Amino acid sequence: MSQAFINTFQQLYAAQPEGLSSAPGRVNLIGEFTDYNLGYVFPAALNFRTQVLFRARTDQQIVVHSQNYPGESDRFSLQAPMTPGPSQWGNYIRAMVYVLQQAGFTLTGADLLIDSDVPQGAGLSSSAALEVAIGGAFNQLSGLALTPAQIALFGQQAENQFMNCQCGIMDQMISAQATAGHALLLDCATLATRAVAIPPELALVIVNSNYPRKLVDSEYNGRRQDCEQAAAIMGVSTLRDASMDLLQQHKNAMTAQQYKRAHHVISENARVLATVDALQQSDMTQLRLLMQASHQSLRDDFEVTVPATDGLVEICQTALGSKGAVRMTGGGFGGAIICLCAQQDVVLVEQAVAAHYQARFGLKADVYVCQAGAGLTVQTFAA
Ligand code: ADP
Ligand code: MG
Repeated sequence: MSQAFINTFQQLYAAQPEGLSSAPGRVNLIGEFTDYNLGYVFPAALNFRTQVLFRARTDQQIVVHSQNYPGESDRFSLQAPMTPGPSQWGNYIRAMVYVLQQAGFTLTGADLLIDSDVPQGAGLSSSAALEVAIGGAFNQLSGLALTPAQIALFGQQAENQFMNCQCGIMDQMISAQATAGHALLLDCATLATRAVAIPPELALVIVNSNYPRKLVDSEYNGRRQDCEQAAAIMGVSTLRDASMDLLQQHKNAMTAQQYKRAHHVISENARVLATVDALQQSDMTQLRLLMQASHQSLRDDFEVTVPATDGLVEICQTALGSKGAVRMTGGGFGGAIICLCAQQDVVLVEQAVAAHYQARFGLKADVYVCQAGAGLTVQTFAA
C-alpha cells in the first residue's frame, strides 16, 4: 500500500484511516459451470488486489470514494431502506450493506477509500474482490466476528440479491480464503476446501481476448436451466449426484442439448479432481490433456466459447507445445484464457499472441502474468 493512497484518504476525510482491508481477484484453473451444480472448482487468487482504507463515522453515514473512479463518490445513510444509487460501482457497497442488514447486523458508519489493480470486466472477478474487501472492512469496523467464508457468502448474496447476478460461490470463496502460492479445491456442495501448492516455477498467464461479451446473462441462465432439467430427468437433486452411467441410462429421455450440458458438468467434475493430482505431481502432460479436454467440452458440449477464445487457446497451445497447458477460463462468451507454463516460457505466449491474435481476429489481447496470491487480509493501524 502506498503513502499516496493514505495521503488521499487524509485529504478526502481530514482524518487518518483506522485500517486496511484487502482482497484479491481470481482465475479458475479448472471447473467451469460446476459451482452452481454443486460440484468442484479449482481457482487461485491473483496478486492483483482491491484495497479499502476505512475509518468509523459517528453519523450513520457511509461515504465512499474509489481511486479507480476519480472525482466520483457515493454517500448514503444506514438508517434509510437500502436502494440502488446513482453510482454503478457504489451499488456494490450498498449491496454489502443490504445483505448484512438483512441478516440482522447493526453497522457502524464509515469513510471508505478503494484502490485496485484488478482489471475490471476481464473475468478476473473484480466485483468479488470488492465485495470481500468491503465485507472485511465492515466486519472490523462493526465487530461482526464473521469468518472469511461467511464474508464470502454475503458477497455472493450481494451479487444475487442486489446486483441481479446469479453467480455461484466460487469467486467470493477464493477471494476470502486463498493461501498464497496455492490453488484451492472447493467442494461447492459442502464448502469444504483444500489448498494445493502450485509449483513455484509455474506462472499463471491470463490472456484476455477483449471480445465484446453480449447476451451473457440470458445464455448463462439458459444453461443453468438445462442443467437443472437434466438433473430432474435423472432423478437427482443436482448434477453433482449424477454419473456418466446414469446419464447414459437417461439419454433418450433428454433433449440433445440437455444431454450435452450434463455431459460437460459430469465430465468437468472428474477433470477437476484429476487436475488436483496432476498439479501435485507437477505432471505437465496430464495438466495439458485435462485442460484441453475441459476446453473442448466447453466448446462442444456447453457451447460457451467463441472463435476468438478458441483461436487464442490454439495460438497459445501451439506456441507452448508440451511445455504448457491452456484453456478458456471464467464465464465464457469471450473473456479470458489461462496458460500454465514455466516462468521462462511466458515469453512464448507473449510472442505468439502478439504475432497472431490481432491479425486473425482484429482484437488486441491483454496478457497478465500472475502468481497465486493470498486471500482477504484486514489490518488496523496503531492510533
Ligand atoms: P468482473 O467481476 O469480471 O471484473 P463485473 O462486471 O462483475 O466484472 O464487476 C465489475 C464492476 O465492479 C465494475 O464495473 C465496478 O462497478 C465494480 N468495481 C470493481 N472494482 C472496483 C473498484 N476498484 N472501484 C470501484 N468499483 C469497482
Ligand atoms: Mg464479477
